[in-house]
Parts: sequence; C-alpha cells; structure tokens
Amino acid sequence: MALKVLPWHGLLPKTVYREGKMLDVLVIGCGASGMMAAISAARTGAITGILEGGEKPGKKLLLTGNSRCNLTNLDFDPDHLYLSEDEERRKKITDSVFSQFSVTDTLNFFHGIGLQTMVEHRSYVYPSTGQSRSVLKLLLLELRRLHVEIHFQEKVLSLRRRTSPQHGGIWLAETERGAFSARSVILAAGSSASPLTGSDGSGYLLARKLGLSLVEPLPSLTGIRCSLIGQKSRAVRVQAESLPRKKKKGRGRQKGAESMDLLSSLAGLRMNAKVSAFSAGRLLAEDSGQIQWTQSDLSGIVTFQVSQTVTRALSRGQDVELSLDLLPALNREELSSSLRKLSSRNLDLTVEELLLGFLPALMIPVVLSTLPESLSLRNSGSLTEADFQSISRALKALRLKALSVRGFDSCQVCAGGVSLSELNPLSLEAERSALQGLYLAGELLDLDGPCGGYNLQWAWSSGWTAGKHAGISAGSGD
Ligand SMILES: Cc1cc2nc3c(=O)[nH]c(=O)nc-3n(C[C@H](O)[C@H](O)[C@H](O)COP(=O)(O)OP(=O)(O)OC[C@H]3O[C@@H](n4cnc5c(N)ncnc54)[C@H](O)[C@@H]3O)c2cc1C
Repeated sequence: MALKVLPWHGLLPKTVYREGKMLDVLVIGCGASGMMAAISAARTGAITGILEGGEKPGKKLLLTGNSRCNLTNLDFDPDHLYLSEDEERRKKITDSVFSQFSVTDTLNFFHGIGLQTMVEHRSYVYPSTGQSRSVLKLLLLELRRLHVEIHFQEKVLSLRRRTSPQHGGIWLAETERGAFSARSVILAAGSSASPLTGSDGSGYLLARKLGLSLVEPLPSLTGIRCSLIGQKSRAVRVQAESLPRKKKKGRGRQKGAESMDLLSSLAGLRMNAKVSAFSAGRLLAEDSGQIQWTQSDLSGIVTFQVSQTVTRALSRGQDVELSLDLLPALNREELSSSLRKLSSRNLDLTVEELLLGFLPALMIPVVLSTLPESLSLRNSGSLTEADFQSISRALKALRLKALSVRGFDSCQVCAGGVSLSELNPLSLEAERSALQGLYLAGELLDLDGPCGGYNLQWAWSSGWTAGKHAGISAGSGD
C-alpha cells in the first residue's frame, strides 16, 4: 500500500517509510509536543516518524497567542501549574521534566534552530517575527534535517504492544489505511480543546484502551457564563432596556433571564477589572487586567485565568460566585471620597451622571441595577455617607453567579487528562511492564497551566523529555 505524505510548504522530509518497515520511535500527533518529541528522539540517533490524523501539522500551534505564539514565559513557575495528583507527586514530575528541559533550554533550542525572540509584558516570549507560522516552519525544517518522516491523514485508531522473538516488544499503531510499527511510541495526541485543530479527544480513548487512568477532561482557559446577583432596581432595568440589543422572545420572563439580558447588553465591552472567584466564601482565584463581555459570557485573558479553578469547582457541583472590582486602581475610601467631592461640586447630578467618569457607559445601568431603586433615582445633593459607601461597594464588588464555562469548542486547554500517576517521572514512560516503550507528552496529560506561555512550555518540556528517553531506549534495544 502506498502511503501518502502530503506536501506542506515544501518543508516536509522526502523519505517515506512504508508499512512493514520498523521505526525506532513513532510519535502520534504532529502538534507542539509531538514535533518536539520527534526532534528530541531523532537527535539521539533514533529513526523517528510521526503519524498525524489531520492533513496539516501544528494547526493549534498556529492559533496560539492570537497567531503570534506566546511560546514560553521568563517568569515560569511550576507552582502555577494545575494537576490532580497530590502536591508531592506534582513536584516530582514537574521538577524532573523542567530540569531536563527548562525555559532556558527552550530558548536555546529555538534560537539554535534559527528563531529570533522578543519579550512582551515583562516575561511573555514571542517570535520576533510576530508570527506563529515562523515557529512551525522552523520546527518542520528541523524535522526535515533530522529525516523525521511525517504521515498525514493517518489517524491512529488502535495502539497495541506485541512481542516477537526477533524484536522483543513492538508497538503497532493502526490507522484506516495501514499499520505502523516501532520499538517505542510517544502518544502526543493533544486534548479535547479546540477540536477543529485535530485534537478531538481520541488520544484519551487510545490511552484508556491501554488501561491508563483518565482524570475527567474539562474545558479550561475559557469564558464564563454568568448571571447578575442582587439585581434590585426596576427603574434602572428600564434604562438598560433603552440600550440597543436583540429583541426579546416571548413574555413572562424570569428574573434570571432579565439579569442575563442586562449582562448581554454589555456585549463587546472591554474594560479593566479585578475578577475574584469564591466558593462558600473561600477565594478560589483572582486576576486583574482587561475583561471582555460577549453576548453570552464574561471573557478575556483575566477571565480565562480564573476559569481554571472555576471549571473544576463547577464540575464538583460547587456554587461559584465572581466578584468584579470595576475600579481596581482606587480603594474603597478613595472612591467614596472622589464621589463625595464630585457631588458637592454639582448637587443636581443623578447617580448615573455621577458615575459617567468612573465607568464605561454600558456598565452604569448594570451597577445601578444592584443598588436600591430609591438610591438610583436620587440626585447627588441628597446622598448620605452611607449612600456613597453603597455606591462604592457596588463598584468594587459587582457580584455574579458563575453558571457554566464555555465548551471544548472554544476553550484554549483542557483541565484533566491522562493521569500522571502511572508514568515514570524521569522519562514519562508508562510504568506498567505490559506498556513498556509507551511514552506520553503534552496536553493529553493531566496538567494545565495559566495563559502566558505555560501550556506550550509544558508541550516543549514534556515532548523533549519523552522523546529523549524513547530515543535512547529504542536505540539501546531496551
Ligand atoms: C486559541 C488557542 C490559543 C492558545 N495560545 C497559547 C499561547 O499563546 N501560549 C501557550 O502556551 N499555549 C497556548 N495555547 C495552548 C497550546 O496551544 C496547547 O497547550 C499546545 O499546543 C498543546 O500541544 P499538544 O502537542 O499537546 O497538542 P495539539 O497541539 O493539540 O496536537 C495534537 C495533535 O495530535 C493530532 N491527533 C489527535 N488525535 C490523533 C490520532 N488519533 N492520530 C493521529 N494524530 C492525532 C491532532 O490532529 C494534533 O495535530 C492555546 C490554545 C488555543 C486553542
């Protein structure tokens, strides 16, 4: 059977291995971790190939950092990574993997293959070209230099190990079009996040069929659907309804629906805020910076960061509340005092007018709706100290109920994944003897990081580690 290697930007290796020829290392998945694993294995001298289910390499890599690829973070701190194992296990794995391929090693690697880099926001590293495409092309050139074969449209449907007297343990990967054999296999098939890029969760199924345990994958680094807590004022709702928005469907709407509508009037708004997530009064996470509102949810990098803990808490059935500090640059006292001063200058201002210089116009009706109706209808001359305190409290802590996070289609990573507990922390090889020669890398595993280059750093470091050990072990005939 003739195997098809599709051309991609003319960068692919010329060599085509055919069914029946055994590789030293076979990598499943041509994403960030798979490409790094293949490079690392091939650099040990191992004959290496990649099977990719899609028709192009690195589809997700191309999307990263708004197509600019935030490839690592100079302030990388492994303590900011999430995984479901206990603290001791987490430290063992991350210490081992990042000591074998650190942020410095990553930068040296990319500089070595010809990528120039630049730093933004103090520590976020991007290619100087400002294009993720440059990262992908240079990885492909390195794969070509190392004679790594890449087979496209070869989605692996089953993976099994058998022993032969001639070769000992051999891994067999079957696709619709044939079977590929290798001494070692690296499963780097990604997660369920953003399935249009090819990572459709099939890696989880392959791992499960081999008996590895899975921590339930959840969408993470994503928007949060919310409803407003404490909406009191009808009058202000009327003001909010005067804002342009989609037509209401039907009559007799519930209070929850009204509060959703009020929030959906914010669609398109970007503003600075501090977002804190609480469950049963306990702070789960907080972050500040730019938030964005969409028709259906709260979004933006700050929300994504908080979503990592919110998704886990919601999946456990916990109630989660978000508190938005809409003026993080001022403390409550400074805010009350500024409002007081402004009111004393002009006694005829409505509360809405008083807030015009503090909040984006779209946000004012939302905040006013959480104040007693009588207060939002008064003018500034009649406001008491307690009123100023209430207004500042509403601005410093707008309360939202977290209803759900966006789904896999639009999240950046998955929380959860194949448990690390059954892997050797040194090599990322499955510990069970029946699975000898099986390595795992990348987002497929139960580890995820915040935005800012953490997830790609994990893909590079875990890919490098798995590739190196798979290559050495396959080469030594172990
Ligand atoms: C929009 C977006 C922006 C992001 N931005 C950043 C960022 O700036 N910085 C950062 O650090 N992280 C970012 N991330 C996260 C980061 O991209 C991922 O964590 C990382 O790319 C995961 O790499 P991976 O190789 O493990 O998986 P993937 O990149 O998902 O690669 C897996 C590959 O395996 C293939 N595959 C799947 N199943 C099979 C099968 N059965 N057989 C054969 N092939 C298979 C898939 O087609 C895919 O090509 C972003 C993610 C998204 C969605």
